[in-house]
Amino acid sequence: MGKDYKVNGDSGNRQTLERTVKALSSHRLMPKSIFVILVIAYVAAASMVSFVATGNRTIVVNGITLPANVFAGVFSSLANIVVIFLSGFYGKLGYITSIVLLLLNFVGYFQNTFIRRNYASLPGIVGNFLTLTAISIIYFYGAKVNDYQTRLYDQALIDILTGLPNRFAASELLSGIIKKKEPSAIVLINLNNFKGFNEAMGFDIGNRALKDLADRWNAIANSRETGTEDFVGRTSGDEFILIIRGFKTDKDIVSTIKKYDEALTEQMNIDGYECYLSANYGYCLFPDDSNDRDSLISYAEAALKETKHNRNESQILRFDIGMLKGDRSIEVVNMIKSALLNDKIYYSLQPQFSFEHKLRGFEALARMKDDEGRVISPNEFIPIAEDGGLIDAVDLTVLKASAIFMGEALKKFEADIILSVNVSVRHLMKSDFLDEVKEILALSNLPPQNLEIEITESIIIDSFEKALVTLGQLKELGVKIAIDDFGTGYSSLSYLSNIPANLLKIDKSFIDKMNEGESYKQYVEAIISMGHILGLEVISEGVEEEEQLEILRWVGCDYIQGFLWGRPISPKDSEDIIRRYM
Ligand code: C2E
Ligand code: MG
Ligand code: MG
Repeated sequence: MGKDYKVNGDSGNRQTLERTVKALSSHRLMPKSIFVILVIAYVAAASMVSFVATGNRTIVVNGITLPANVFAGVFSSLANIVVIFLSGFYGKLGYITSIVLLLLNFVGYFQNTFIRRNYASLPGIVGNFLTLTAISIIYFYGAKVNDYQTRLYDQALIDILTGLPNRFAASELLSGIIKKKEPSAIVLINLNNFKGFNEAMGFDIGNRALKDLADRWNAIANSRETGTEDFVGRTSGDEFILIIRGFKTDKDIVSTIKKYDEALTEQMNIDGYECYLSANYGYCLFPDDSNDRDSLISYAEAALKETKHNRNESQILRFDIGMLKGDRSIEVVNMIKSALLNDKIYYSLQPQFSFEHKLRGFEALARMKDDEGRVISPNEFIPIAEDGGLIDAVDLTVLKASAIFMGEALKKFEADIILSVNVSVRHLMKSDFLDEVKEILALSNLPPQNLEIEITESIIIDSFEKALVTLGQLKELGVKIAIDDFGTGYSSLSYLSNIPANLLKIDKSFIDKMNEGESYKQYVEAIISMGHILGLEVISEGVEEEEQLEILRWVGCDYIQGFLWGRPISPKDSEDIIRRYM
């Protein structure tokens, strides 16, 4: 199997982190220039002590003549305060310097007292000794606090689960990079459907997958095998940041990202489970795109968001100002709103057939046109409608219109075919969803057993328990349930057996690969057998070639839907199909 992703040594990622900690800790020290001034002040004060204390100098203040040695105490206190400052604010260096200064001074006092027998220096010796005790207490206590603080900083910079630097560390590093003007690429990474992975595999395996991934990425950053200087951190649940330095061209950046992607997509073995992860990557460049930390992050975010329009694909996208200006999602949200108001959301019907070419029914597929009459792909507007809270209205428009059409068609042609409608899980979760369906069934005279609700596999898992209740109620009504895009999520058998479904729809991506090799064929065959064991019928989506049709017939698939036997067509055109293939 693959590569050995062991973390070795403490170079790269860890080094960068340590430099960041150091940079943070040094904020707590005073400037070096003041250190020098304090040392000079000490020497000056100490010299003054011995100057005023020796000989019989006098000073005249306001006409009164005073012996100069009265001021010895003042200068001596000044000197002591200076060393207290040194030990308090300059760590080990300050403490050692203070001891050296005190010792030098002590030698002077000692000579004065015991050799020259000038007992005026005796308080100086005692003072020196007390100061030494005081600064030792200050230093050792301070060192403990410092140690503790450094540990806290360290903890604040490391993500506990994965051991990778966290968001704060990344943002500190970024500030440093901007200060030093080091050209860098800021890459934001989002794992695809990690939530679904977690819920299907359990949080324990999810956590271990994250840890495994972190080790792989850490190893790459530390080994410098990418040829660039990389920093990788975890910013939140399934989001990571990669900061790349030391590249020459844009190609180097993409090649570095690809190295991380390869490590990510390589199979993981956790507790005997084979797990696969994938991710999308959005990046921007410092200083080319911006020299402001927050903007850099939000530009990388905008690029990452752009990759989301194509679900479930590993993509690397560089930020482009167009992603901000005419932010496409905002534009599309407005288009959907206006289309809903002006009845510009409509639907196509795509036929589904048995292998005897008998019509099973139709899938209703949402369609939308913009103001200039251009068709917007549902692959673009459906995810945006989901994020923008508009999906219920879109689903409902399609469900209502297609049910009314089909209710009439069944009567007109005395047909018994199925209308399959896509429903977003967000919509399904709404408390009044069931009432809406009942209302539409009554309004359209469509018998419940002729209606089928399609739910996307990868999305059901995200909110499994709640979805299950509604699906059970639908089934009680007599409505059929199909699991759409099967194979793209992380379904387990136990999860699947709990869904009260009738039909499994094998995703087009598997059908596409089927004539590429024996193993895909076997995979499709296994899905079909599994479906049959669970009492489900199986339909293959996206059948475009005769060869695929024959393989599917051979491996025991029940139905097909695809361009080979029928593209999505208008409701009116679908009447011909009903007449011909019933
Ligand atoms: P889906 O439910 O998996 O629908 C099948 C998609 O595959 C449709 O794309 C269909 O036109 C396309 N397709 C079918 N046969 C072939 C083929 O042989 N070759 C190729 N290349 N494509 C084929 P479409 O209409 O673009 O819809 C995309 C997705 O949008 C749907 O995937 C569904 O998830 C979502 N969607 C469509 N209508 C609605 C709706 O009313 N509500 C919700 N929530 N989602 C919808
Ligand atoms: Mg569908
Ligand atoms: Mg599908």
